[in-house]
Amino acid sequence: MSSECIFCKISNKEADAEIVYEDNDVLAFKDINPAAPVHILVIPKKHIPTHQEIKEEDAHLVGKMHLILSDLARAFELNHDGYRVVVNCGQHAGQIVYHLHFHLLGGRPLDAMSSVRGG
Ligand code: 5GP
Ligand code: ZN
Repeated sequence: MSSECIFCKISNKEADAEIVYEDNDVLAFKDINPAAPVHILVIPKKHIPTHQEIKEEDAHLVGKMHLILSDLARAFELNHDGYRVVVNCGQHAGQIVYHLHFHLLGGRPLDAMSSVRGG
């Protein structure tokens, strides 16, 4: 828990979010500024600042997060047309919130990765 972290606050119910999934270790909620018709953030309740701070002991947790992403993709009917899972790590990726999160994006055709390469 980091007292200044907005995602820890959401996890502790000190800040509001539209929660779509919760268990003891993981929370998923709608992004406040969606980049696609479906834009969900999947976070560990444990405060891990970035992708680079994932430790060996977190391997099960991160694997579980991917199963939840897959389940949410089906629940939000993204499984047939497809979707994207994104993690931004650090300055060059434009990470804004320093609490690990996976973006689940879908519901429309997404920009080709070539635009990500160019941008
Ligand atoms: P990143 O750190 O990967 O660049 O993105 C952080 C994401 O968190 C952004 O898409 C932003 O819209 C979202 N976000 C930031 N603050 C909040 C918040 O207080 N509530 C919710 N639901 N999403 C947030
Ligand atoms: Zn946090």
